[in-house]
Amino acid sequence: MNIKLEKLSYIYNPETPFEKKALDEIDIEIDKNEFIGVIGHTGSGKSTFVQHLNGLIKPTSGKLTIDGKDITDKETKLTEVRQKVGLVFQYPEYQLFEETIYKDIAFGPENLKLDKDEVHRRVKKSMGLVGLDFEKMKDRSPFELSGGQKRRVAIAGVLAMEPKVLVLDEPTAGLDPSGRDEILEQIDRLYKEGNITIILVSHSMEDVAKLAGRVVVFSGGKIMFDGETREAFKHSKKLEELNLGVPQITKFMQKLKEKNIPVRDDVLTVEEAKIEVLKYLRGKAND
Ligand code: ADP
Repeated sequence: MNIKLEKLSYIYNPETPFEKKALDEIDIEIDKNEFIGVIGHTGSGKSTFVQHLNGLIKPTSGKLTIDGKDITDKETKLTEVRQKVGLVFQYPEYQLFEETIYKDIAFGPENLKLDKDEVHRRVKKSMGLVGLDFEKMKDRSPFELSGGQKRRVAIAGVLAMEPKVLVLDEPTAGLDPSGRDEILEQIDRLYKEGNITIILVSHSMEDVAKLAGRVVVFSGGKIMFDGETREAFKHSKKLEELNLGVPQITKFMQKLKEKNIPVRDDVLTVEEAKIEVLKYLRGKAND
């Protein structure tokens, strides 16, 4: 699975007083089995970008190919593209509508006209992937669930299409800290278990740092940075100029380094920082 955007621009309401260029000559290539964090503040173009990835909107200019097929080509079947690239919108739980969890998750696969056994297999598997007990939950109403659980049902509905690429637009928005952690853990597990590319849109540097190997930073409809997550946080001044902080733990280590304490300042997690600080303290104890 390969997605390639070349000089892609998108303009909302062209040739009207409300004209707005949301993406400005974007170049990016996404390969299989990547975990990409997409960050940027509100209005930077993240949602417009991800809506292109499954053909929901089409470029105003430039080119988008999915597995070599041009999305604007009449021969390209958008239903096939949408099967390959699953998009979980912001607040996806608002799209739940069936009376049982089973029926909600089965909706997509049933639309593919799959037989009953295959639909059943997919619903069961998807519920497992998001950590919902099949037997206990399948006949319950999605509306009785907690916010985090509802969101998991919505994600399972997209996974039941067995996409090669899963795009999640701010999947933790509005959840309490434990709901947030649960969803992020599920996403991490999904990536590690499956043969899948994950694109996680977030404005939380903490979330991205924990999970994504590659980060793409949007600003004013352009890509300001695209590279390894660790590299991105080396440009912390620039990120702060864009109102995107670096993770607190990275900032903490950068402060230590400024005070001439010889530790790595590109750590991304508390665990990594602990190892660095202990190494330093042990070194001192031996001095
Ligand atoms: P983000 O997801 O980073 O918040 P968006 O892609 O939603 O950014 O928005 C990029 C720009 O396009 C913003 O200036 C936004 O106001 C504008 N925009 C987004 N959706 C629409 C729309 N439906 N009509 C007009 N302008 C829009």
